[in-house]
Amino acid sequence: MKSVPGKLPGFQVAEGVGRIGGFVNIYTYQDDGALYLIDAGFGRGARAITRAFRDADAQLEGVREILLTHHHLDHSGGAAYIHERFKVPVACHVEDAPFVDGRDTLPISRWMRLFAGSRPVPVATTLKDGDRIGSLQVLHAPGHTPGSAVYYDPARKLLFSGDVVVERKGKLALAPTRYAANVNQAVQSLARLRGLAVEVLLPGHGVPVRNGYAAMLDDLIRRAPGEYLSDDSH
Ligand SMILES: [Zn+2]
Ligand SMILES: [Zn+2]
Repeated sequence: MKSVPGKLPGFQVAEGVGRIGGFVNIYTYQDDGALYLIDAGFGRGARAITRAFRDADAQLEGVREILLTHHHLDHSGGAAYIHERFKVPVACHVEDAPFVDGRDTLPISRWMRLFAGSRPVPVATTLKDGDRIGSLQVLHAPGHTPGSAVYYDPARKLLFSGDVVVERKGKLALAPTRYAANVNQAVQSLARLRGLAVEVLLPGHGVPVRNGYAAMLDDLIRRAPGEYLSDDSH
């Protein structure tokens, strides 16, 4: 039986949500006595995680699961260390799992692996659209990667959006499309998120967005085809 952690690790940004900031946002999420990590940062991001837990007097062994939004190494790289050292299992969408556990690699990811000091990590739970993890609903929102997933808490109206939608300079944006597997699909996935009632958006990059989610997303949906889709990708 895993112990229930006390103080919330990270800087509290919503009820039961801590943010361990940096280039990538790592979130801690408290749900009914369980604590989860949403993403794990670069390989060296594990250091920021262990520091945040130490500061909060919380036990990393008590984390129930690391929920990855997608396989990119700036989000998944820290998971191997946390898994190996603290026995925390890893979950991600089934279509990104081969890139997380090392069955498949991308050219950029091999280079990034060296750069980021990351290594593959076994995936204990593969997720699919509609799955539930405690209060969280899993939504498949492909495009940025084939298995990009967002995690939605309908009771607290929280959305962990990974790189499906990020915050940049006070606006919502797509993550840089040079890293996207399928830009067209990434734009289409925005429409899925529009139907959600969201009070706090917790993106993979940028700052959490507390007000105006719907209007800001509408603005992005309006801009996205012109801003992100080049003529030859139509
Ligand atoms: Zn990404
Ligand atoms: Zn990212």
